[in-house]
Amino acid sequence: MAFTLTGEDACEKTLPTPIPNPYWVAFSAASARLVDIPLGKDHFPANPEWLEVLAGNNPSGFSEVFPNPISTAYSGHQFGVWAGQLGDGRAILLGEKSGQELQLKGAGKTRFSRMGDGRAVLRSSIREFLCSEAMHALGIPTTRALSIVGSDLPVRRETIETAAVCARLAPSFIRIGHFEHFASLQNIERLKELADLLIDEHYPGCEQSQNPYLELFTRICERNATLVAQWQSVGFCHGVLNSDNISVLGLTMDYGPFGFMDQFQIDHICNHSDQGGRYAYHRQPQIMHWNMACLASAMMPLIELTVDAENTEKLLRSALEQFPLIYAKTWQSLFRNKLGLINPQEQDVDLIERLLQAMHESSVDFTCFFRKLSDVRTNAAVDQISLRDEFINLPAIDQWFSDYLLRLNEESSDDVQRKLRMDAVNPKYVLRNHLAQAAIDKAKDRDFSEVANLLKVLEKPFEDQPQYEKYSNPPPPDLSQIEVSCSS
Ligand code: AMP
Ligand code: MG
Repeated sequence: MAFTLTGEDACEKTLPTPIPNPYWVAFSAASARLVDIPLGKDHFPANPEWLEVLAGNNPSGFSEVFPNPISTAYSGHQFGVWAGQLGDGRAILLGEKSGQELQLKGAGKTRFSRMGDGRAVLRSSIREFLCSEAMHALGIPTTRALSIVGSDLPVRRETIETAAVCARLAPSFIRIGHFEHFASLQNIERLKELADLLIDEHYPGCEQSQNPYLELFTRICERNATLVAQWQSVGFCHGVLNSDNISVLGLTMDYGPFGFMDQFQIDHICNHSDQGGRYAYHRQPQIMHWNMACLASAMMPLIELTVDAENTEKLLRSALEQFPLIYAKTWQSLFRNKLGLINPQEQDVDLIERLLQAMHESSVDFTCFFRKLSDVRTNAAVDQISLRDEFINLPAIDQWFSDYLLRLNEESSDDVQRKLRMDAVNPKYVLRNHLAQAAIDKAKDRDFSEVANLLKVLEKPFEDQPQYEKYSNPPPPDLSQIEVSCSS
């Protein structure tokens, strides 16, 4: 069931504002299957009315399915500072179909638009669409993208751009910020409704626990600790880990100035507007933990319904302390898999960290390195390993390869089997910034072929796709420093 809270402190009935002369920019057939939209031979919806509905031009279209479009209220911490009420300023929830909520992003002003125009530009919509689908294909939890509908409607950002509406899907778009909102209003009844909705729909079993709300909190922490470990394992930086952008289902959401790293830099900042590097790659786990502390403080009144204040704090603190442990365990397991190791050993953390340090010092391409690592043979001579040439500090990397080979030999690693395992976890294709930019540049001239090509490639990130080999390459030097800002 969709967002069931009612009342003006929680949401507002909001119709999308139509866009002139809408056209398809992109469509994900895989996402369409999630919501049972029948498709034609061209893999776009067979019923042309969908174009109008997903443009936000026909809110009464499919009204039996989407009877009550709303925008919801949430608040949040932005860059570590309490920002007060935010809310769906440009997203409108049409309703729910087949267990997925359908939301139109960029569908016009809402009561929560504040100074904004309620729109999203084509550029940022293409990035969100492609990354949502790419992330899903990488096996990382995320909101999904169904479509982008474009229009020539001008939208003012640093320059004049054009509008687009991105249709997103998720079992729920509830964020930490929704909890923070009602906590800031000291509205315990609402907090309870929100938590009960989550338990009923998305976290079954919590109600059997001695303290269902504590159990809910613990599980939300688990999911987000796992999520951030998964991001680290593919070199993904979210860019704006504000508490209003953190899903309580542990989904990657609100794609803005994100980036998959090309050259590995442990302190990489993908968001040009993040001057202090609060959301740099190496800080993501700690920041996600901080966000969980925001959730803990918002949920505190719920726990206090059954436990006294002193014990509430103790319980929440101990649940929060699990976060770094779950993160570390998941991170180690994911990186062990990336190295093709099977039997966990104590010194694995050191092996992984030394590799990342060497990659950082030599700015080695993150995706290419791990993908090619599966070609190393256990009987290789260290100075014959071609990946070694990517590194500046040869003694350090030689020592590393020598330890790695020893480790593989210790567990009698089979070269063929290991390659199969490693290629199934080390993607060949990720949404590099320069690839997204090339698709965007073409789209600005109404050529959407590159968006479609990229979608196709990124839907199978672990498969060798010889015809798309060039998409696996690092960017040419002049395209390696594309700057991405919050403007969207
Ligand atoms: P974001 O940085 O996209 O996660 O957005 C932060 C907040 O600003 C959310 O409440 C958004 O709904 C709102 N917002 C961002 N861009 C716009 C816009 N163009 N119009 C209205 N609200 C916006
Ligand atoms: Mg947001």
